[in-house]
Parts: sequence; structure tokens; C-alpha cells
Amino acid sequence: MLTTSAAHGVKYICADTTCATRFYDMNKSPIACPKCGKTVPAPAKKPAARRGRRVETSLNN
Ligand SMILES: [Zn+2]
Repeated sequence: MLTTSAAHGVKYICADTTCATRFYDMNKSPIACPKCGKTVPAPAKKPAARRGRRVETSLNN
């Protein structure tokens, strides 16, 4: 069974500085603080493709 923290999703800290509750998103969306109810903006997925990872090209060296 799932025993790791992955079962709880990603760990977040409430954006409200007076709350700052640490919680897991439980793989739910939208993500909301269980204490104050403030929604947390989902982390923007960075377009890593622009970085041009060298994993593929390294094979030709
Ligand atoms: Zn909160």
C-alpha cells in the first residue's frame, strides 16, 4: 500500500503568512488550506523544453 508521503500529494505552505499552515494537497485541485480555506495557486509547470536537456544529444558524443 501507499505508505510514503506521495500518497498525500505535494507539500504546500499556506500563502497566508498569518496562517502558514503546512499541508499536503492530497492530489486534489484546487488546492486549499485546510485551516483557513485559502486557495493555493497551483505551481506553474515550467516549460523545461526551452532549456534543451542534453540527455538526448549526449548519446551522439
Ligand atoms: Zn491557511
